[in-house]
Amino acid sequence: MTYDPLMLTNIVERETVRGYKRKYFRFRRDRWYGGIVTGDVVGCNLRCKFCWAWRFTWNTRVRGKMLTPQEAFHIMKKKAGSRIKKMRLSGGEPTIGFNHLIRLIELSINAGYHFVIETNGILIGLNYSYAREISKFHGQGIEVRVSIKGTSPEEFTRLTGAPREYWFTQLRALENLIEAGLSVGDEVYPAVMLSFSTKKNVLYLKEKLREIDENLPEYIDPEYVILYPHVEYLLKVMKLKPKIAYRPDNVPEELI
Ligand code: SF4
Repeated sequence: MTYDPLMLTNIVERETVRGYKRKYFRFRRDRWYGGIVTGDVVGCNLRCKFCWAWRFTWNTRVRGKMLTPQEAFHIMKKKAGSRIKKMRLSGGEPTIGFNHLIRLIELSINAGYHFVIETNGILIGLNYSYAREISKFHGQGIEVRVSIKGTSPEEFTRLTGAPREYWFTQLRALENLIEAGLSVGDEVYPAVMLSFSTKKNVLYLKEKLREIDENLPEYIDPEYVILYPHVEYLLKVMKLKPKIAYRPDNVPEELI
């Protein structure tokens, strides 16, 4: 299975974006980030062979709802109640339907919430203007977690089926966001899927991150496969075996 993430972006966009509206498959409160409300969007421009959300996000015709930023914010605010002060988009790729994302961040931040964008970075790496738009929220409670798929271009292709050059595009997302003015560590940092990596490749990645900003390697947020039944199924179909993975009831505290 090979594909071009940009072509996939266009296809996904046609199915999941209408003007300022974006398709969602659910909203939830959960334990990550010390308590956060999450809007899970439908549609992604990668096909990671360990994807936890593949059942809802790969098939864009899955049941879901097209929502305006105001509608999505309203639902998230209700779910947050009085205790939760953080919001994020996850599930698929939130930068598809970029106008929706920016408006939603505006609404959240203006209402006093901290907003986390979990992204694979492909579109931010390809469009400096996206980084510039996001950087408008510098110092106001924005956090961009760029999830790098593997520790080398070859590993990226093995894990996602996408051409190797897009691994560098993911790194460029970090570069663009830093150049646009987000601060390293608290506002932008790399999350890295390490379940399939060798020590040598981890060193290679750190070297590449250091070329962008000397402090970036120390902010790597490690990601490991969590063996939900549907993830185990996908790994089996994709013939991929993690070196390190965790059962859902046994995720180490420091990864939550
Ligand atoms: S980037 Fe995230 S949502 Fe998209 S396929 Fe990979 S793991 Fe799934």
